[in-house]
Amino acid sequence: MIIRKQFIICGTVQGVGFRPFVYRIASAHALTGWVLNDSHGVTIEVEGRTEQIEAFAVALVDELPPLARIDRCDVIEQAATGETRFTIRASEDAAARTAEISPDTFVCADCLHELFNPADRRYYYPFINCTNCGPRFSIVTGVPYDRGLTTMRDFPLCPACRSEYEDPASRRFHAQPNACPVCGPQLRLHSAAGAELAEPLTTTIELLRAGKIVAIKGLGGYHLAVDAANDMAVAELRRRKTRDQKPLALMVADLSAAHAIARLDTAEEKLLGGVERPIVLLAQRADHGLSSLLAPRNNTFGLMLPYTPLHHVLFAAGFKALVMTSANLSDEPMAYRDAEARARLGSVADFFLSHNRDIHTRVDDSIVRIMAGRALLLRRSRGYVPRSVVLAQRQPSVLALGAELKNTICLTRGDAAYLSQHLGDLANAAACDGFEQAIAAFKTLLAVEPAIVAHDLHPDYYSTRFAEQLDGVERIAVQHHHAHLVSCMAENGVTAPTMGIVCDGLGYGSDGTLWGGELLLGDCRDFRRLGYLRPLAMPGGDAASREPRRMALSALVAAYGDDLPDLPLLGSAFSGGELKLLLQMLAQGINAPLTSSCGRLFDAVAGLIGLRQVVSYEGQAALELEQAINDAENESYSFAIITTESGMIFDSLPVIRAVVSDVLASTPAGTISARFHNGLAELFVAACVRVREAQGVNGVALSGGVFQNRYLTERAVVLLEAAGFEVLTHALVPPNDGGLALGQAVIAGAARGASA
Ligand code: ZN
Ligand code: ZN
Ligand code: FE
Repeated sequence: MIIRKQFIICGTVQGVGFRPFVYRIASAHALTGWVLNDSHGVTIEVEGRTEQIEAFAVALVDELPPLARIDRCDVIEQAATGETRFTIRASEDAAARTAEISPDTFVCADCLHELFNPADRRYYYPFINCTNCGPRFSIVTGVPYDRGLTTMRDFPLCPACRSEYEDPASRRFHAQPNACPVCGPQLRLHSAAGAELAEPLTTTIELLRAGKIVAIKGLGGYHLAVDAANDMAVAELRRRKTRDQKPLALMVADLSAAHAIARLDTAEEKLLGGVERPIVLLAQRADHGLSSLLAPRNNTFGLMLPYTPLHHVLFAAGFKALVMTSANLSDEPMAYRDAEARARLGSVADFFLSHNRDIHTRVDDSIVRIMAGRALLLRRSRGYVPRSVVLAQRQPSVLALGAELKNTICLTRGDAAYLSQHLGDLANAAACDGFEQAIAAFKTLLAVEPAIVAHDLHPDYYSTRFAEQLDGVERIAVQHHHAHLVSCMAENGVTAPTMGIVCDGLGYGSDGTLWGGELLLGDCRDFRRLGYLRPLAMPGGDAASREPRRMALSALVAAYGDDLPDLPLLGSAFSGGELKLLLQMLAQGINAPLTSSCGRLFDAVAGLIGLRQVVSYEGQAALELEQAINDAENESYSFAIITTESGMIFDSLPVIRAVVSDVLASTPAGTISARFHNGLAELFVAACVRVREAQGVNGVALSGGVFQNRYLTERAVVLLEAAGFEVLTHALVPPNDGGLALGQAVIAGAARGASA
C-alpha cells in the first residue's frame, strides 16, 4: 500500500548538506516527494510503501550528516498524490531566515582524502571544503546563508565548482564556501616588514623549522605559531607577547601524536578528535620532549588537533607539536583582520601566513576539560557557536549582556537561547568593539529585535553602562550569582527551585557588597541567599585580586588580630613599608572592601603556603593550588557553620589557622592544598544537608568560575551524590562568567512572561 508522510524538522539542518542527504536516502528507498528549506528548518514529504518510509525515517536519524542536528521532528499523515519523482524544491526567499547557521567545522574525512590525493584537483589546496565541513559562522555576513552573504562572495565559482554546487548528488551541493585552486582563495606569505615571499606553504614550514614566529590565519582568527620543541623560539614568543606564565595552546598532528606528549582516556580522545575540535586540557607526560616553557608550573597541556586543511598540510611536514596560541598581545582579543593583524603583531611575529578569504567574525578556539566524567566547556566558542541551548519554556526575546571578564552575550528566540562566541575582557577596548559587533550579528542572524535587555547588577561594568544607554528597551538587572545558578539549571533543563553553590572571583551582591562564595536557593523567578563564606577584606580593592599575598595577609589579620604568627610570608612577600601600609588599611577598613569570594579565599591559601604571591593572569593562584594537590591526602580542614539571622556564615578562620599551623610544621604544599579542597567539598555537603532539612529541596547546582577546578568539582559531586543530592553541573555552558548571559536571559524572560 502506498502512503505519504510529511516530516517537519527543526534544528541545525540548513547549510549542512541536509537536503542532498534527504534526496539520497529518499532515492535509496525508492520514495517520491520533495524536500524544502523553510522557516522551521526543513520540511520533507515522502510517498511510497509503509516499510520503505519506515526505513527512510530510521536512516534520517542514523545516517545524519556530521554537522546536522535534529532538535524536533513532527510527522503528519498525508493523502498520497501519485508523485513520480523526488525533488529538492527551491526555498522561498524569506524561508531560511530564521533557521540556524552551523558552527565552523573541521575538515571532514572525505575532503581530507582529496586533499592528499595527487590525482584530485584540490590536491594540497588549503581551502577545500564541502557541505559536511568548512567555515560557516566566521564567514557569514548576513542571512539567509548563501554565498553572496559570506566572505566568499568575491570568488565567483569556476565551471567545475559550479557543477558540483548545482548537483544534488554531489557532496558540494549548495556548499556555499565551495572553492578550488582555480576560483578560490589563495595563501600569501609576508615578512613583518611587508615583503612578499614565494611558495607560501613550503617557506612557512622552513621558517617554523628554523625557529621563527609565524602568524597564521586560521578559521576564526590568527594564531602565533612556533615549533613547540624549540626552547629558544618559545622563550622568544613569550618575551614578545609579554605573556610570561600563561600556558600556550599546542596543536599536534593526530591522536597518536597527542599520546606521545599527554595522557588521554577514551573520553578525552573522543573530545580531541570530535567535530568541534576544541582545545582539550590534558595531563602532560613527563617525557613529552617539548620545551619546558610551554606551561610553566602547570602539569597540563592545552592540546588540539588540526581543524583546517591548512593545518593539515602544515602538519604533513612532520612537526611533533606546534604552539598555536591566539595572536594577540597579553590580554587583548585575538587579531582576525589582515591589516589589523599586521599592525598589532608587527613586533611579535616574524612572518605572516595569510590568505584572501576574510574572517567576518572573530571566533576563538574553544577550551574543554573532562570533569566528573563529562566534557565541560571552559570557553565556548569555535565549533560550538552559534548552536542553541534549548530552554524549558518559550519566552519573549531577550538580549543578555553578560558581565565583564570572559564575556559572552546571549540572545533568545522562542525556546532557544544563543550564546555568543567568547568575546574577552570588556575592560579592553577591542573586546568592547567585538561585544557590540556580536550583538548586531546575533540580532541579524536570528532576525529578532529584543525589547528586553538583561545586564549585571554591577554599576561599573562596561556591559551595564552599555545597557543604560540603549533606548526603547526594558532593562532588567540580574544579580550575578543568581544568573550563575540559573545558567546551570537552564542547561540541565531544570526549573524547580534548586540550591546553588556559586563560587567565583567576584560578583556584585544585592546588598552592594562583593559576593563570590554563596549558597543560594532559587529558580528563574527569584532567589534567597542562605549562606556565604565569611567576608574577608581586600586591602587595596582590585589590587587584592591580582596579589594573593594581600588576601593572605587579610586572612591572617582576621584569624589572629594583632598577634600575627611568624610566617615566612610576612618577611619575604612584602617590603617593610608595604606591610605597614596594608596592615593600616586592614585595621582601619580603608580601601579594604569586604568580600565573601571563594576565589579570594583560594588566593589567601595560595599566598599563605607561599605558592603564588602575585598573579599574571586571572585565576592563576587557584589553578596552581589545584595543580599542587597530593591526591593521596584524605584529611580535610573544617569550616565552621555559624547560624545568623541573615543566614549561615561559612567561617574560614578555623581553616586559615589550620593552614598556618601546617605551614609552620613544614607540611608539604600538596597536603595543605588537598586538605583545603577536601574541606570545601565537605562544607558544601554539610550546608546543603541543613538546607534540605529546613526546605525539603534536594537539587544542588554547582556554578561559578571556581568550578573550573576539576578536583573540587569531582570531590563535591561524589560527596553530594553520596549524601543523596541530585547534583547539576555545567557541560555545554561554562561555569565561569562565559556562561552568565544564559542565566541572565532566562531570569529576564521569566520576569516578562515565559510560558511552557
Ligand atoms: Zn568536507
Ligand atoms: Zn573552482
Ligand atoms: Fe562570576
